[in-house]
Amino acid sequence: MTERSHPRPTRAVVIGGSIAGMLAAAAVKDHVDRVEILETHEIPAGPEPRAGVPQAAHFHILLSGGADAVDDLLPGAVGRLLAAGAHRVPMTTNMIMYSPEGWYRRWKRDSHHLIAASRDLTDFVVREHVLKAPNVTVRPLTRVTALLGDARRITGVRVREAGGAESEVTADLVVDASGRASRTPRWLAELGLGRVREDRLDSGLAYASRVYRAPVATRNWPVINIQADPRLPRAGGIVPIEDGRWHVSLMGTSGGQPTRDPDAFAPYARTLRHPVVADLLDRAEPLTDVVVTRSTVNRRYYYERLGSWPEGLVAVGDSVAAFNPVYGHGMSVAALGAVALRDRLAAAGLRTGLARQAQRAIARPVHLAWSLAVGQDIHYPTTTGGKAGFADRLLHRYVSRLSRTATGSYHVATAMTDVLTLQTSGISLLRPGVLAAAVRGPSRPQLTAPTFTPSERRLMDEADIVLSAAGG
Ligand SMILES: Cc1cc2nc3c(=O)[nH]c(=O)nc-3n(C[C@H](O)[C@H](O)[C@H](O)COP(=O)(O)OP(=O)(O)OC[C@H]3O[C@@H](n4cnc5c(N)ncnc54)[C@H](O)[C@@H]3O)c2cc1C
Repeated sequence: MTERSHPRPTRAVVIGGSIAGMLAAAAVKDHVDRVEILETHEIPAGPEPRAGVPQAAHFHILLSGGADAVDDLLPGAVGRLLAAGAHRVPMTTNMIMYSPEGWYRRWKRDSHHLIAASRDLTDFVVREHVLKAPNVTVRPLTRVTALLGDARRITGVRVREAGGAESEVTADLVVDASGRASRTPRWLAELGLGRVREDRLDSGLAYASRVYRAPVATRNWPVINIQADPRLPRAGGIVPIEDGRWHVSLMGTSGGQPTRDPDAFAPYARTLRHPVVADLLDRAEPLTDVVVTRSTVNRRYYYERLGSWPEGLVAVGDSVAAFNPVYGHGMSVAALGAVALRDRLAAAGLRTGLARQAQRAIARPVHLAWSLAVGQDIHYPTTTGGKAGFADRLLHRYVSRLSRTATGSYHVATAMTDVLTLQTSGISLLRPGVLAAAVRGPSRPQLTAPTFTPSERRLMDEADIVLSAAGG
């Protein structure tokens, strides 16, 4: 624990015990005497489904920017995740990715990676690491119903336990990590702090997901990702997860959304821009029902712009901004936000101004992920909440050009994954070398089909998987 000037023991409370809450606890644990995480739902003892994270039924990838942040906060956590069966997938070496501009190459040299695991396993490993700290505890079945304090300083929270008993928990720092349903905007308004600016942009995307027993060995099996195109806004992919399983998610916008009908799942996969997902599913055994969600709206609160911000309150994770999950940024932004909070605490401790400074720092990774998600979604005809202006269209044309170039240029592919994995700011895509490469276009010809390695083909032969003519 770092040295502090507080004469009495200090306490932080965290609202929400999901990934942002656990990582926030990791961020603050060395800067206060005690951290208490308050969570509405039960916390399972192992890597099991949890009522607080219904979205775990859909595949979750952790991009390298987020994975590095998790490891920074909880050294060894990613190694533990891999030891428990998660896959480290080099990008784009071990990915079969069909973008609107064509197939990405599987470059021999990898630059970035993603961690592929079930969300239940990721949450469990993070939780286990955080709760090892002797000064961190979690109180399940405890809902936070209000903030204590006034417009100048938040001094704790009011809670209701499952049996209905109400009490107050005082704290030097309250971290809101309660996700998409956060009530902080309402609580701030009730304290007289005014209305927080909120932006929403909804592409109307629905997810349908199912877990399969993989018909091939999953170690080193590639992630398959067929992306949507504004002309055919349907997407889908296969993510190899622990225990020899494939987590499969299919997505579509209004008018063409997938349903929870199990008999319609594989046929829907056949309507994507390419049949490779459907071909692979032909030989896979479903292990679960199909789960559907429409919880994909991009929603952001601009806390960092509020005229005044109370001491003692910080918000992280989806409670600040939730993104269309198709870009896979939510957990990474939560992790980067927690690192930003930890760094502000390390620099300034619990001093006056900490909360405001931390909230501004948390907004930086939010801003990058927001620009990436909204910059794409605004171009879908089904999108509500905003229309593409001239600058959006210009930027979109540039990004499409870059993406086409990336299909045949390692240099540009790496520059793009640098940004997409949240490891570098979007400005880096305007570097002279990247601009010049975009002007020249791809240096290699476009691929016309997905590229499987000889050993993957052998595995497919052994499993009787037949790729249809368009399947490569
Ligand atoms: C379909 C789908 C697919 C996704 N895929 C990806 C992906 O591939 N990669 C990725 O990085 N992200 C993905 N995400 C996003 C990711 O799920 C979220 O960004 C992430 O869970 C945010 O974590 P969080 O802790 O902020 O919120 P949540 O995980 O939503 O957790 C909030 C927690 O707060 C608790 N809570 C709420 N209110 C209270 C209260 N008043 N008192 C006490 N506790 C409370 C809840 O019970 C819950 O446990 C996906 C999301 C969806 C919907």
